[in-house]
Amino acid sequence: MAVAEQHAFKAEIQQLLNILVHSLYTDREIFLRELISNASDALSRLQFEQLTNADVLNPDLPLEIRVVPDEDAGTLTISDTGIGMTHDEMATNLGVIAHSGAKAFVKAMKERKDGNAQDLIGQFGVGFYSAFMASDKIRVVSRSYRPDEQAYAWESTGSETYTIEPAERAQRGTDVILYLKDDAKDILQPWRLKEIIRRHSDYVAFPIYVGDETAATNKQTAIWRQDPKEVTKSQYDDFYKMLTLDFQEPLHTIHMRADVPLQFYALLYVPATAERNMLSPRREPGLKLYARKVLIEEYTTDLLPEYLQFIQGVVDSEDLPLSVSRESIQATRVVANLKKTLTNKVLADLKRLTKKDRETYLDIFEQFARFLKQGLAMAPSDREELEPLMFFTSTRSEGDWVTLEEYVERMVTGQEDIYYVLGDELSTASRSPHLEPFRRRGVEVLLLTDPVDPIMLMGLTEYKGHALRNVDEADIDLSGIGEETAETDAAEPLAEDTFSRLRQRFEDVLGERVQAVRESKSQIGSPARLVSDERSPGRHMYRINRLLERDYELPVKTLELNPRHPLLHNLSGMLDSAPPPMIDLVIEQVFETALLQEGLHPNPASMASRLHLLMQAATGTPLDQLATQSEETSSAPDMTDESAEAEPDEDESEGDSE
Ligand code: ADP
Repeated sequence: MAVAEQHAFKAEIQQLLNILVHSLYTDREIFLRELISNASDALSRLQFEQLTNADVLNPDLPLEIRVVPDEDAGTLTISDTGIGMTHDEMATNLGVIAHSGAKAFVKAMKERKDGNAQDLIGQFGVGFYSAFMASDKIRVVSRSYRPDEQAYAWESTGSETYTIEPAERAQRGTDVILYLKDDAKDILQPWRLKEIIRRHSDYVAFPIYVGDETAATNKQTAIWRQDPKEVTKSQYDDFYKMLTLDFQEPLHTIHMRADVPLQFYALLYVPATAERNMLSPRREPGLKLYARKVLIEEYTTDLLPEYLQFIQGVVDSEDLPLSVSRESIQATRVVANLKKTLTNKVLADLKRLTKKDRETYLDIFEQFARFLKQGLAMAPSDREELEPLMFFTSTRSEGDWVTLEEYVERMVTGQEDIYYVLGDELSTASRSPHLEPFRRRGVEVLLLTDPVDPIMLMGLTEYKGHALRNVDEADIDLSGIGEETAETDAAEPLAEDTFSRLRQRFEDVLGERVQAVRESKSQIGSPARLVSDERSPGRHMYRINRLLERDYELPVKTLELNPRHPLLHNLSGMLDSAPPPMIDLVIEQVFETALLQEGLHPNPASMASRLHLLMQAATGTPLDQLATQSEETSSAPDMTDESAEAEPDEDESEGDSE
């Protein structure tokens, strides 16, 4: 008799086993779900192989799963007639962590101090190894579907090593034999097994038999082929949980059947959160694609555009040629058509939801806005369908959401354009100096503070003929729009020649950091603002690059000065008398404050020393004393240095963005 070879588990498996073998996880029966799911995968893969390969061992063997308890021996055997494993496949598949959930689980355990696995195991789905929670020893006997392969047995007690030896198995498939721990043996009662199978594996597509019964325990219904009227919410949710091993309910379910132009069934879900972190074992994007109930591909990303890849679910097509290989699937016309139909249906369904159940839609939007907004930029052809899915906060929404449609409906008389302000956060955006004239005329302004908003704007330049315009655009003329509320005690503007001297001083001090300095027509409350003379949608590129941590250059803008503002009145009065560094300090600070209000300041902390000097002046330090001090601190802001600092190293940006 051949001697069993001994192999050592990879270190990470040893850790996993160590946790599982010693865990007191109360819900440990879930291991059965994991083993049945592996068996079902093995059957699907065999089924797929048979589509193109006639040379399969025991081609007529029925595709099924059998769960056999043996009370005398204290064993539970899970058998399938699936694809099986060769000697090498056993070593590779059962010697390393294949299951992504298991990897995440070990990682999460390491980050935990108390070492308590209780709540974690159920959330991750740790695959095959979960059986060690209930077993002293596991033996896997398997024979590959390849006709010239022999059967082998893999065995381990869940310590550091496992063995592989030749074995007897007449037919294709795999037996997983669990030598149950004493306290796990109650699972051997058939009624217990059936209960667990119905609870966790009811929708498995292959029949599951308990013992030598001839009636399958599970329903096996392809739920997506059922009439939506006959499926309850809890059935949908159960199926979702089974599919994704997610433990939260989905936010939304879309079940559709189509006959023309394509015949297909689809059951799609919007998951509860966008965080595809460790909690979701189904971590790769993509839909499960069946052709006439045969699983063709587990993660198919060709069925929905990139911006909808957060959707999970199953698509079953009657029109896909069964004889195609996985690789050529992408190429078929059917898939392209399916993608188009699915995309339209999903977008239409979401739009319906915005009207019918705004609350649920907003839950979805809060989680997945990032994706949808990118869709506007990346899929111009879907623009019209995506626009109604966008919700915004605005200067008039009071924390609520507003759609573009609603915005347009309540535009003030004379208003043609849709206005927005860009900012890093709501508090800055809503205090933007650009908003003053809009507020005075009751013109609503959208507050765009999501980091992906600049990307969205590349695709959203107008809505139903109304241009979207940034309030920082220099040439926005609000006269004739809405009704201006009277200005209360606004000061007189500076005389023209005084203003022009002051303007010149600003230009001298700020140099190339501004494109120009000029008089503002619309400012009331603040002394200055930075405006854009450019209107191309690409001008927000620096925000996008900053988001992607790529190199970026700050845009050079035009500084508009408010000739009515008391600060500028004071400054102009100092032009002749005060020591120049003092005036220049104020000019620098006015400029940097405007940068800050724009969300453009690369390093606000760098203003501290200048602000201290200015406060000293305000609290009584004589100006001539300050003049020398300010030269020492050399307060001319190192914008060039700072912006260099904001940029990641040299030109590695391509590598970075991946
Ligand atoms: P996962 O199922 O997520 O890949 P597991 O740890 O549960 O991870 O299983 C590891 C691998 O072992 C599987 O990917 C598969 O290749 C193989 N395997 C497990 N059970 C079977 C089975 N019943 N038949 C064939 N191969 C199997």
